[in-house]
Amino acid sequence: MKFHSFLIKYGEIGIKGKNRYMFEDALVRQIRFVLKDVDGRFFVHKSYGRVYVDCEGEYDYEETIEGLKKVFGIVGICPVVRLEDKGFEELKKEVVAYMDEMYADKNQTFKVEARRSKKTYPLTSMEMNCELGGVILDAFPQMRVDVHKPDIRLNVEVREEIYLYSEIIPGPGGMPIGTNGSAMLLLSGGIDSPVAGYMVSKRGVALEATYFHAPPYTSERAKEKVVDLAKLVAKYAGPIRLHVVNFTDIQLYIYEKCPHEELTIIMRRYMMKIAEHFAKEDGCLGLITGESIGQVASQTMQSLAVTNAVCTLPVYRPLIGFDKKEIVEISEKIDTYETSILPFEDCCTIFVAKHPVTRPVLERIEKSEQNLQEKIDELMRTAIETTEIIEVR
Ligand code: ATP
Ligand code: MG
Repeated sequence: MKFHSFLIKYGEIGIKGKNRYMFEDALVRQIRFVLKDVDGRFFVHKSYGRVYVDCEGEYDYEETIEGLKKVFGIVGICPVVRLEDKGFEELKKEVVAYMDEMYADKNQTFKVEARRSKKTYPLTSMEMNCELGGVILDAFPQMRVDVHKPDIRLNVEVREEIYLYSEIIPGPGGMPIGTNGSAMLLLSGGIDSPVAGYMVSKRGVALEATYFHAPPYTSERAKEKVVDLAKLVAKYAGPIRLHVVNFTDIQLYIYEKCPHEELTIIMRRYMMKIAEHFAKEDGCLGLITGESIGQVASQTMQSLAVTNAVCTLPVYRPLIGFDKKEIVEISEKIDTYETSILPFEDCCTIFVAKHPVTRPVLERIEKSEQNLQEKIDELMRTAIETTEIIEVR
């Protein structure tokens, strides 16, 4: 079947009045963003309170659906056959041909749902339902009408043209990107943080990201892997401004001055401070990490509290209650898993102590950090000033 358009269905709860425009405009923007990489020419527009994607000429159907399935806010995608209005007799034939081609198995129930945006059409919606139902029954005697729970709901919409559709392909749900501000994701090369970014962006939050790079302890390949992960997340979240911070000197300084069992937790506090600096600079409303309770020493309740203590922005941890297995399942679904498991060292694995503290006490950690007083401000300033910014799209 050749489809000429897609009708985009979105959840309408809570998007009345002014919000509705914001929601629809953000949806249209994000649909355009994902379709720019798809073979074909598309015209994305709002009309009669709905969002449509019109396809001009040849296009790749599978890729288009794959793209639309990544647009948060979409609950359903209906492939539409668009017909020129050549009168009702012609429409009857077209409807029969549509049903024939779409449903090889005729042993199904159906219902016709006609709607007219063009009120000058000679038949009312009720008349259209009856007449079109009649011709389908005549053409396919195995088919039956069920007005309550039909297997097939055939929508016939009369506008300048006539739209036929009956299938709904599920979308990802959520809210369109940009309808809920933006947040800064601490993005490592691991499995968890890309999933965390995906989950927050699903609720309409645009993303920026910060990656802490420690050359020569972490390789150029490790950085490329993070850029690749950002690209994969960007397919859902839209363009991501990725900050690549050179963290080596700060790490070495902490290594030199602080008790080794506290390295990880102190390092994480400085990561949060630097990420928060960029977040505030760009108007982000929170930080996002891939932490989950108890996964490693730096993710015990005590460690999370000590890490949190340096932040003034809220820290969102969407994976907090997830087991690794559940996180892996999502990363497979969103296609980041294969990249995440590539074997490049991330900066934390180099400086990990054999027995890191699992119950850090804030006062003790702050006391250790006093050993850093002499140079840390300058090192932080340098790290911030030399940060590389990569626009990932
Ligand atoms: P991930 O799989 O996301 O790397 P992890 O299980 O390896 O997580 P940690 O290394 O303790 O856990 O990191 C916890 C969180 O801290 C990560 O999810 C990420 O948000 C952030 N993080 C860790 N390392 C870095 C880094 N090098 N750059 C940016 N963020 C980082
Ligand atoms: Mg990690």
